[in-house]
Formats: sequence, structure tokens, C-alpha cells
Amino acid sequence: MNENQKNIDSDEIKKFDNLASRWWDPEGDFKPLHQINPLRLDYICRHNDLKDLKVVDIGCGGGILSEAMSKKGAFVTGVDMAEKALNVAKLHQIESKTTVDYRLSTAEELSASKKEGFDVVTCLEMLEHVPQPADIIKSCADLVKPGGSVYFSTINKNLKSFLYAIVGAEHFLKLLPIGTHEYSKFIKPSEIDTWARDSMLELNDSVGLAYNPIFEKYSLTKNLDVNYMMHFTKPSSNE
Ligand code: SAH
Repeated sequence: MNENQKNIDSDEIKKFDNLASRWWDPEGDFKPLHQINPLRLDYICRHNDLKDLKVVDIGCGGGILSEAMSKKGAFVTGVDMAEKALNVAKLHQIESKTTVDYRLSTAEELSASKKEGFDVVTCLEMLEHVPQPADIIKSCADLVKPGGSVYFSTINKNLKSFLYAIVGAEHFLKLLPIGTHEYSKFIKPSEIDTWARDSMLELNDSVGLAYNPIFEKYSLTKNLDVNYMMHFTKPSSNE
């Protein structure tokens, strides 16, 4: 199977592999992920008590979210296609004493062997880096058990998100390396909802993440114009 059939953009994977050593520098290239992590973890915990739940983190990178969910008592599997990022994740958890099961795999491959194997599926800040996001959403829906939760986060597609997420964050404030994001790959919440519904997921809630450049802080907001997260559930089989 070639990379295109696998729903991978190899330039994107290279980009994340090249940044591998920077994953755990809280002031480095992934600073925004470190800053939003407590907020997104709180959001997930608002809907799911993670203790003893089986969770898969799709596109886990260096493990920023995977480790945090493991510390909440979840049994976490983290998958990514950037091998160097996974190596960093594996090394880091020796220090943090977490027990995430990191695997080099796509969501599609994992869903073939672990169908309905997880209580919670997270796929954060990853859909805007793949050729066919709808297929990832379908695999996430396959991976979750009936009654379970699926979380997606990405960047909205409009003039404001272009100005904030590319011009502002990459060029002006230099929060992220230039070229981290491509406008054409941004995704509207309505698109995620349509693809999720096609995969039999039901939208439960959504939330925005806003950045205040003066205080250099993120907060949760009702406004989904730029960065946002969505929580879906898979109906129980008897519903
Ligand atoms: N979810 C993490 C990292 C986001 S960065 C977090 O929010 O903290 C996006 C990650 O998705 C990178 O690590 C990249 O290697 C991974 N990725 C991109 N395309 C992928 C694919 N098709 N399959 C698996 N991982 C992928």
C-alpha cells in the first residue's frame, strides 16, 4: 500500500519527525500544544472520568495529551506515523513514569484490528494534516465502543482563522514554525459534523479555544471561529 492509499501526507510526517527533539520543550515549537493541554484535558474529563477507561490517542505525536490522560488513570494507546516523534514519546514516559502503549500505526490500520476496542478516542490537532480527514473520522468511529466518546480538534476555515492561525500565530507572534498549517486543509465544524454523522457519531458538544496575545494565555470559549474541539458519542447498540 503506498502512502496516499494509507491517507498519509509524507511531507507532514517529515515535518513532525524533524521537530521530534522539540516536543517536550514547553517554550519551544510545540509551546501552544503545551499551553492548551490542561484546557483540552479538563474538557475531556468534564465528559469522561478517564480512570480505568481504555483510550486511544490518534496522531499522538510526542505524547503531550497521551501522557496527561495516562496520569488521570486511563489505559492509553498512542498511535502516530512519525517514528521519531514516537521515539521521543517513549523516552519521555520513562521520566514521567506513565505507561502509554505507543505504536507506529495509522487510525485505519488500528481500526482493522481493534474495532470497538476503546471507551474514548481522541484525535486532536491532526485532521488538518491528512489528505482525507473523513476517513480518519470513520476509523475513529469504528475504534470506539457503543456508548463511548470521540473527540476531534482542528482549525476552522474562514478569513479570521487564516488571519489568526497563519498570519498571526506563524508570521507575527511566531507561536508556531512557519508552514505548520496550510489554509486549504482547515476544516469547518459543519464538515466534521457531517463526516461524523455519516459514521454514525452524534454531536454532543463543541467548544472554542481562544488565544489572548497580551496575557499569552488560551481559554475555552463558545466561539468556534479559529481553534475548536468537538465531542461526539457513539449510540449504545440498544438505542
Ligand atoms: N495530537 C497531538 C499532536 C498533534 S500534531 C497533540 O495535539 O498534542 C499532529 C500529529 O499527527 C503529528 O505527530 C503527526 O505525525 C501526526 N499525523 C499526521 N498524519 C498522520 C496519519 N495519517 N496517521 C497518524 N499520525 C499522523
